[in-house]
Amino acid sequence: MKHVIVGNGAAGTTAAELIRSQDPGASVTLITDEPHPLYNRVALPRYIKTLVPEEKVVMRSPAQYAQAGISFLTETRVRSVSVEEHTLLLQPGGELPWDRLLIATGGRPNPLTVPGGDAANVHTFQTLDDSKAILRDIGRSRSGVAVGGSFIAYELTEGFRHHDLDSTWLIRGPRWLRRILDAEGGRLVDRIASEHGVHMVYGEEVAEVRVRDGLAVGLRTTGGRELPCDLIGVGLGLRMNIDFLAGSGVATHRGVITDRFLRTNVRDIFAAGDVAEFDDVVLGRHNMMGTWDNALAHGRVAALNMLGGSEPYADVPTYQSGLFDTIISVLGMTPENHPDLESVGAVDMTARTCRKLFFLGDRLVGAVLIGSIHGTRRLMDLIRAGAQVAVSERRGLLAAR
Ligand SMILES: Cc1cc2nc3c(=O)[nH]c(=O)nc-3n(C[C@H](O)[C@H](O)[C@H](O)COP(=O)(O)OP(=O)(O)OC[C@H]3O[C@@H](n4cnc5c(N)ncnc54)[C@H](O)[C@@H]3O)c2cc1C
Repeated sequence: MKHVIVGNGAAGTTAAELIRSQDPGASVTLITDEPHPLYNRVALPRYIKTLVPEEKVVMRSPAQYAQAGISFLTETRVRSVSVEEHTLLLQPGGELPWDRLLIATGGRPNPLTVPGGDAANVHTFQTLDDSKAILRDIGRSRSGVAVGGSFIAYELTEGFRHHDLDSTWLIRGPRWLRRILDAEGGRLVDRIASEHGVHMVYGEEVAEVRVRDGLAVGLRTTGGRELPCDLIGVGLGLRMNIDFLAGSGVATHRGVITDRFLRTNVRDIFAAGDVAEFDDVVLGRHNMMGTWDNALAHGRVAALNMLGGSEPYADVPTYQSGLFDTIISVLGMTPENHPDLESVGAVDMTARTCRKLFFLGDRLVGAVLIGSIHGTRRLMDLIRAGAQVAVSERRGLLAAR
């Protein structure tokens, strides 16, 4: 049985290794268009702060793949999939046959598509190579602008401040995570960022990057503001890597659509990790989750099912990150992907906490906690159990311990 896995991130690598360990006779090929074996994307923010060296970010070596009996192809892009022939077309060349195929291709960052947006010191932040370039440019910069209202834009801002750059954070919306936080939550994050010396700008986008000798030297915003800078970081969201599936018959939407077993609509083709738009049994609808733990868990479930199992993916994805000197935790489903959720929330500016709970009908399906993560276990239990919460009890849950 030839198992072919496209994408060697957390999802793809987990699946490749599990298939080999469960079935030592299986042929497993792992393909990536990047030059690196598995590395820890979650560690990249610490890497650009020079808190962790490259050796600690990289999690596998080609020798480890060889030892595990995994054929590992780097700098190889899958251009298309033939379902009839059971082959992949590769770039720079060649075809590869498959019996079971896993799509674990994640996403790629949206670029800054304005004049000057392709200057050499304008960086997205997704790969180890992006991070090396950012770190190199931080070393020769005194000021930086981070663009975007996402987690990635936050990580860039914090990276710039860590190196003492004069830092501006430009957010198109009225606040950070505008779909998740309300105005008061946004004010809390604004205060935390400002206390850390960040200049916050809201409601404006980049109109043009000012370029001299191929390098950005500043930018003009749609509000007419001129922001001189030596470095620009871009966090404008991800587009899923599904283009190579066009015409294949594999159903896609924002990502690759799967059932609860991470099977696509095409027999013997599976999807896992960021790219999978999976039937979420806990939440009762299709969902996408861009987290490390979700990618690991998906990789495991996909592998078992590629080996003939019938294991549903049933977990509540969580995400935890630093937020300057405090913490943010995201549990389950949020209005980022599901704008129709109802919510209750509370912000305490003195304690610097924000808690928001999200409901689908009468069920608790998600939460965001800033500053204090007490009650996480109880909230997770309620989300997992699909417990009904009466409207009158919702505010009481904000104080969950
Ligand atoms: C800077 C940063 C910080 C993060 N911080 C956190 C955090 O604190 N907590 C958390 O939970 N998550 C965090 N994440 C998100 C987390 O890293 C991802 O959700 C997870 O790594 C996704 O893994 P994956 O295996 O699905 O895909 P990926 O890791 O994206 O791997 C997909 C691979 O497939 C390759 N590929 C794509 N198309 C093709 C093709 N056609 N042919 C060949 N190869 C292809 C890609 O180049 C890539 O190497 C962070 C992400 C970033 C970038």
